[in-house]
Amino acid sequence: MDPSKTPEVKYTQLFINNEFVNSTKGKTFPTINPATCEVIAQVQEGDADDIDKAVLAANAAFDRDSQWRQMDASARGELLYKMAELLERDIDYMASLETYNNGKPIQSAYDDLGASVATLKYYAGAADKLCGQVLPADGNKFAYTVYEPVGVCGAITPWNYPILMAVVKIAPCLATGNTLVLKPAEQTPLTALALAALSKEAGFPAGVLNVVPGFGPTAGQPLVQHQLVRKITFTGSTEIGKLIQREASHTVKRVSLELGGKSPLIIYPDCDLAKAAQVAHDMIMINQGQCCIAASRVFVHSSVYDEFVARSVKLAKDRKIGNPLDASVNHGPQIDQEQFNKILDLIKSGKEQGATLETGGKSFGDKGYFIEPTVFSNVTDDMRIAKEEIFGPVQQILKFTDTDEVIKRANATTYGLGAGVFTNDLETAMKVSSRLEAGQVYVNNYFSASIQIPFGGFKQSGIGREFGLDGLKQYYEVKSIIVDLPFKV
Ligand code: NAP
Ligand code: MG
Repeated sequence: MDPSKTPEVKYTQLFINNEFVNSTKGKTFPTINPATCEVIAQVQEGDADDIDKAVLAANAAFDRDSQWRQMDASARGELLYKMAELLERDIDYMASLETYNNGKPIQSAYDDLGASVATLKYYAGAADKLCGQVLPADGNKFAYTVYEPVGVCGAITPWNYPILMAVVKIAPCLATGNTLVLKPAEQTPLTALALAALSKEAGFPAGVLNVVPGFGPTAGQPLVQHQLVRKITFTGSTEIGKLIQREASHTVKRVSLELGGKSPLIIYPDCDLAKAAQVAHDMIMINQGQCCIAASRVFVHSSVYDEFVARSVKLAKDRKIGNPLDASVNHGPQIDQEQFNKILDLIKSGKEQGATLETGGKSFGDKGYFIEPTVFSNVTDDMRIAKEEIFGPVQQILKFTDTDEVIKRANATTYGLGAGVFTNDLETAMKVSSRLEAGQVYVNNYFSASIQIPFGGFKQSGIGREFGLDGLKQYYEVKSIIVDLPFKV
């Protein structure tokens, strides 16, 4: 790691009620640079007591007579817009901090920052455009709906897109007038804390946004269980998502979940094969494969299978692995030892179960959690690598011959986050895209998402949608007000 490019770490404490404070017990945990395995800093570790303090601050900020509750919706939008501008001002620092803590190539960190700014601006604009309806009710009544904030919300975010996932929770949550306690992933707390500092500079009242770093069972769980928290928004593994839904049921919290995937991408022979191979490659290697919607099962028509595999192998071999702060690098390390071990174990299972390892398959270098870009061909549906979420730079290429067969196989999973098809035949495109069970379906592209487009999972990939105006729905209650009139309108 080039020390001249190493960003200064300014914030390592909990952010509660607009102040950076130590944890109640004064405990800390190390945060690591995954490219070198070196400790970046000791971060204050929040537990149930700290979560309680943060929730009480958020609850006070949500009081009916508070500055926040009394604020015009347009003023909330202005605060979010100001936060976006501050993030743009600090984009170089924030991108390098993200790469330092997460290991993603610096260009990817800039992309995430760009998406974060766009998200803040989008929901800033939406803040004063949420309208209820006047209803043609039976009888002599004037009936209308208003959208009210849910109240104190809890957000639990993963380590793969630390700042973007924080912003995707913060922006719609605050645009609709809620208050929030955010627990970032234990591996990557630094950019969420830096963002908290920007929220204060933007002028958000104390208690509106609180950030408590810590661990799932000791900080995440108390947040899910807290009596005063009315809603939990979570992004992470399906396993923890189920646990959260169970825990949240005791207090009937609203729950929205963005979980895992094993997303299919179907390649027909009539498409632009060079483009399809490039997109399939980009969308499995994206973020070192640590992406919920990664194209992790590529079904290729038998007539172009060998050519597609050859193209994919070349693309994988051409990736530049190394220090993610170096702008020419496009492949960084995995997040931690646990993920590194899990990925290598799944690669081993692929070889043992009879898939052909075309390239990669090993760790890279002598420090950091690097894994070579890996391509498996001759993958069949029953193999672990075709069924389990690998969350690593490992491409699975499967073969198909018939449309009805491939649709059935693509849908034969408990997940349903993303799916794609490459074909230039309109009828095939329409049939396949309409029958794939996924929250986003792509035709001749993959994961070309943007802030205006709802994102979320069918089946066990989640509950609710983020992004777009649908992304606001999870943060408000619909209240119907019915007024008796002494006359017929
Ligand atoms: P995870 O355990 O689901 O972590 C996500 C978040 O949940 C983290 O903030 C985590 O805290 C927290 N958490 C863990 N246990 C909790 C509990 N009992 N109550 C409340 N919150 C809790 O994911 P992971 O362990 O980091 O990664 C494991 C697998 O999850 C990956 O291999 C991948 O398949 C999947 N994953 C999916 C996504 C996605 O975008 N869909 C993102 C990340 C990971 P800690 O920081 O202490 O873990
Ligand atoms: Mg974890």
